Amino acid sequence: MREIKKILIANRGEIALRVVKSCMKMGIKTVGIFSDIDKDSPLLDYVDQQILIGPAPSNKSYLNQDLIIEKALEMKVDAIHPGYGFLSENALFAEKVIKAGIIFIGPSPKSIEIMGNKLSAKKTVSKFDIPLVPGLNEEIKDVDKAMLAAEKIGFPILIKASAGGGGKGMRIVHEKKDFKQQMKRAVSEAENSFGNGAVFIEKYLSKPRHIEIQILADQHGNVVHLFERDCSIQRRHQKIVEEAPSPVVSEELRAIMGEAACNVARSCNYHGAGTVEFIFENNSFYFLEMNTRLQVEHPVTEMITGLDLVEEQINIAKGEKLAISQKDLNLNGHAIEIRVCAEDPYNNFMPDTGIIELYDIPKGIGVRVDDCTKQGSEVSIYYDSMISKLIVHADNRVEAIKKMINAINNYTIYGLKTTLPFCKYALNHSDFRLGNFDTGFVNLYIEDYKSMVDENNSNKVGLAAIFQLYKMDKISTYFLPSTATNWVRNS
Ligand code: ADP
Ligand code: ADP
Ligand code: MG
Repeated sequence: MREIKKILIANRGEIALRVVKSCMKMGIKTVGIFSDIDKDSPLLDYVDQQILIGPAPSNKSYLNQDLIIEKALEMKVDAIHPGYGFLSENALFAEKVIKAGIIFIGPSPKSIEIMGNKLSAKKTVSKFDIPLVPGLNEEIKDVDKAMLAAEKIGFPILIKASAGGGGKGMRIVHEKKDFKQQMKRAVSEAENSFGNGAVFIEKYLSKPRHIEIQILADQHGNVVHLFERDCSIQRRHQKIVEEAPSPVVSEELRAIMGEAACNVARSCNYHGAGTVEFIFENNSFYFLEMNTRLQVEHPVTEMITGLDLVEEQINIAKGEKLAISQKDLNLNGHAIEIRVCAEDPYNNFMPDTGIIELYDIPKGIGVRVDDCTKQGSEVSIYYDSMISKLIVHADNRVEAIKKMINAINNYTIYGLKTTLPFCKYALNHSDFRLGNFDTGFVNLYIEDYKSMVDENNSNKVGLAAIFQLYKMDKISTYFLPSTATNWVRNS
């Protein structure tokens, strides 16, 4: 057992603040790092010590491995928490941290390396009879051979970069005639984006759901799963609405998928918190990949299990045994999360940047906002477009949907286009309410959304709430943006 009294958080934004909150609860001191552009981040009000790590570009700040470790040593921290994104799935970084005598809060560099590569992951899990997506699970370089394999698998097929992530590095090929050209593009894209040109081909499932299992494993061989999350509402192969439990997973299936996920963890001697992702179609599930870190949507699992996953991560990193066993775990109620991103659904969910002119979050029992922003904060081009996560928990799915819509109505973000109005549309949709949807939901309904909700709606959601704030004397007309004063006058 090792002691952890002080942690450096090698990340920014909501996830950095999320980690700090668990540390505060556990009586652990924190060191925050920030880039020039994050100098006014609310994170710095919460950490015990702070270090300017460099200029805005990530490779000079949040990805500067050696500098981060140097500062961690200077600050005499016991451990580093990498959050998600940035260095969280970088095996070399984990190794350097360990070599410096600091605890890496996450799995071993070896597990990260195996699972960070989709091909080596598939190879490793095959020991355990885990169902894989039909395809050719090896790197394919020769275009003619690849073509033959693709014909055998049957179009449409998906060309995937083995080192891809965050929804990037995938190309769908619907017809044979496009295959060769797409294959060449996929390789050069993989080389440029991930520094690794290895690609493979999979059958492209046309109407799958994305269902993933949260696991926890300690350093003594104990593994449990914390049930599933359904993350089928996606844009650009990236999740935007997540919920737990899944409306289509029976208790029996949950146990089977849960056990499969635990076996995936066992296959790479995993320890820490991790997520095993599957796609699900026609009552069959197929392993996609394992994310060797805390997942963006981990809060929905926290809501239905009552566990604090960051606290679990820290205890595991110390060398403690899991305090819970599979039979102690109960699934309680229903939780939904939406990703509040600065994006324009009218323009293919392109990131939007600018200043958050007004910011007011919803509150209430079972309503949680994970954020790290305030009025006047800037959403810049340098980092991910996610501003916050809005999470609700209720006794059942119907109540959770109701609570989420109410919470969205009470969330004011003015100055930027956000995904809030689209998420409200999705949650109100009969297909969503019936649980009758797959990963094609956004593409299927985006035109309907555009025709139903007028273009200024992203402002209107905010404006209704702004007017509310104004009436409640929280803001004066002086602070109302010019469009808002127009709206107040016109309404
Ligand atoms: P999750 O799998 O937790 O749902 P995402 O796929 O949305 O998370 O990724 C979480 C964050 O990490 C995002 O900011 C995403 O851009 C980033 N990310 C994940 N994998 C990679 C990768 N291989 N390369 C670059 N960024 C990544
Ligand atoms: P990433 O590392 O970018 O998260 P994943 O392999 O997890 O890559 O896939 C991301 C998303 O892409 C999935 O959630 C799913 O929606 C879609 N996807 C991946 N593989 C397939 C497939 N073979 N058929 C259909 N959709 C897929
Ligand atoms: Mg994935």
